[in-house]
Amino acid sequence: MAESCSNRSDVVVSPSPEGKDLGRGQRRDPLDNAGEAQRCLLCKKPKCALQGCPVHTPVPECMLLYRQGRLEEAGRLLFRNNPLSAVTSLVCDWKQFCYGHCVLNVKQNPVRWYEIEQEISGAYLSTHRLERQSLEFTGDRIAIVGAGPAGIAAAVWLYEAGAEVVIYDSNPRMGGVLRYGIPAFRLDKKYCDAYEAMLADAGVEFHGGVHLGKDITLEELSASYDAVLLAAGAEKPATLRIPGEERAVQALPFLKEPSAFKLGKKVIVIGGGNVAMDACRTAVRQGAETWVYYRKTFENMPANPIEVEEAKADGVRFKVFQAPVEVKEGGVVFRDCENVVPEDGGRVVTRIIDGTDHFVECDTLLTAISEKPDFKLFGDAPVVLNEWGWPVLSEGQKVEGLKNVWVAGDFCLGPKTVVEAVGSARTAIDDMMKSL
Ligand SMILES: Cc1cc2nc3c(=O)[nH]c(=O)nc-3n(C[C@H](O)[C@H](O)[C@H](O)COP(=O)(O)OP(=O)(O)OC[C@H]3O[C@@H](n4cnc5c(N)ncnc54)[C@H](O)[C@@H]3O)c2cc1C
Repeated sequence: MAESCSNRSDVVVSPSPEGKDLGRGQRRDPLDNAGEAQRCLLCKKPKCALQGCPVHTPVPECMLLYRQGRLEEAGRLLFRNNPLSAVTSLVCDWKQFCYGHCVLNVKQNPVRWYEIEQEISGAYLSTHRLERQSLEFTGDRIAIVGAGPAGIAAAVWLYEAGAEVVIYDSNPRMGGVLRYGIPAFRLDKKYCDAYEAMLADAGVEFHGGVHLGKDITLEELSASYDAVLLAAGAEKPATLRIPGEERAVQALPFLKEPSAFKLGKKVIVIGGGNVAMDACRTAVRQGAETWVYYRKTFENMPANPIEVEEAKADGVRFKVFQAPVEVKEGGVVFRDCENVVPEDGGRVVTRIIDGTDHFVECDTLLTAISEKPDFKLFGDAPVVLNEWGWPVLSEGQKVEGLKNVWVAGDFCLGPKTVVEAVGSARTAIDDMMKSL
């Protein structure tokens, strides 16, 4: 059956005319980092760090060390503050964070700190060996569930503080979304390998392929360890709640092992977030004609605009103002949408237009709507839940109702970012350490 497109000519976007990769952490022109570092004003109250960065990266201090050629010291400072610095400098949405808060932004020429950070941290990570920085928590045994960014950062800090750390993960290897979600064309898996090797070298035990809630219970962990950190991410996919949805493929399992899926010639991805962008860019690399269908417009897309540009440059095509209403054999029924401005000038709302159903053929439908944490892994533990079914937490992210369990990363924040997962791990670990 032929594809029946909407007759709205404004909704189809062809590949970006520039066709250039604007990848985060990659430059349009070869830039001299040394020259770039000289442009930094070394602000006394750096907005890039204090307001722009969830982990308050000490930008001016590191910039000064970098200018003085003291790269090892700069690397140590960055690693101590954020062990995932080599990764966040590549995958952060820097326009939202450091770069977007640089005071030179007023002149529209902010300092590309993230590129300097990547140079420093990448080199530091490749040679760094973990060492005990204190013996304060010697003898304390801590279990971490989840070896994503939050779990890795927590393991590093706890190990350095003298604790005995054991990590459990349902996946066979460390990295969480960094290994099993973000595609290799955006993030080289060598970073996950480096963290895995570093922690193994330090003697941190890793039990891959162990699923909390099936292979072990929280009660068992809580009884066997002095403290438990749950950093199990947000992997439970939200559903479209439309007939025929079972025919669709979820984006996360697809991204975990793209080669396990036979996509066919034409793929439609539903969603407008970063997961949708990674899914469409992966599908297009498998040779499929790939479309992203989104119910609102480009300005409403939660995806980083750079990722949308990158997807266009890859040849992904977009169709906005399209709401799926039914998944059928061989395609999807969509209904047109439009933005309506209320008469009182209030917030624009997106409305589905009745009578505009049209069938669009595709071989595979990938859905990337949203994800949430799976609180089933608490099992029968007496967790206090709030009215939305989320665990009630103390300020330091200790779980109410449980004696020695803390949470971190997407598991308590919902789907966020790598740097925010690291920041939340710091909050949990600081609180946990006070109680040990
Ligand atoms: C496709 C995709 C692309 C993204 N792109 C970016 C980006 O470009 N930049 C950015 O900053 N952020 C990005 N994010 C978000 C970012 O990756 C997450 O915010 C971050 O990984 C959260 O870290 P975490 O450690 O909390 O969880 P995760 O990375 O999800 O790790 C959780 C770990 O817990 C394990 N686990 C789960 N349940 C169990 C269980 N029951 N028993 C044992 N182990 C379990 C999982 O196997 C996993 O290894 C992206 C997310 C996705 C899905």
